[in-house]
Amino acid sequence: MKHGDIQRRGLMLVFSSPSGAGKTTISRKLLDKDDNLELSISATTRPRRPGEVNGKDYFFVSSEQFEAMVARGEMLEHAQVFDHRYGTPREPVEKALQAGRDVLFDIDWQGTQQVADKAPRDLVRVFVLPPSVKELERRLYARARDPEDVVRSRMAKAADELSHWAEYDYIIVNHDIDQSLADVQSILHAERLRRERRVGLRDFVETLRAP
Ligand code: 5GP
Repeated sequence: MKHGDIQRRGLMLVFSSPSGAGKTTISRKLLDKDDNLELSISATTRPRRPGEVNGKDYFFVSSEQFEAMVARGEMLEHAQVFDHRYGTPREPVEKALQAGRDVLFDIDWQGTQQVADKAPRDLVRVFVLPPSVKELERRLYARARDPEDVVRSRMAKAADELSHWAEYDYIIVNHDIDQSLADVQSILHAERLRRERRVGLRDFVETLRAP
């Protein structure tokens, strides 16, 4: 991608949050509005929920298929979340970044730590907090895509995910979707302008200094 005529490397924008904080809604809106951002589609062993599309929301795979991908080194990161395995296929991410495209990841704190170890330079970490515990509960129940016991277990896990908020670069408290979207767009805009991502900047400045 070009930014002010200067090439730059793609960046990795990670969103984490307890489920029910509104992260998925913010991601969808952001992707709709941003032509240079693509979603990393994870592989998971979790069963497909109604309305989810294979290859769009996730690659739904068996445990055996998942293990084989890990064994072949095809996962950029992978983790157990709730009762299932989730992982990020490496190849689409590498292709996008090399082409100067930015990639959005909806992954948990475990995956974020693994990506931070492997590619700290290209990483921007955003944590989305729900406005209150009441609202978090309300959103989880209103969704009602999962049986109640699963929702309860997700509430318990939310506390665990929340404990990792301080490992992130930016924190969004999701009081209002439009405001949160604007905040994330600002973060992305500023991060794209960072000096260290602007690959051709040095040469460009030299041309400005030439007599
Ligand atoms: P859900 O089952 O509700 O779609 O996702 C459950 C949790 O798994 C969410 O917190 C989501 O961010 C996380 N998750 C989804 N895909 C991945 C992945 O590829 N890697 C990791 N580490 N976590 C993921």
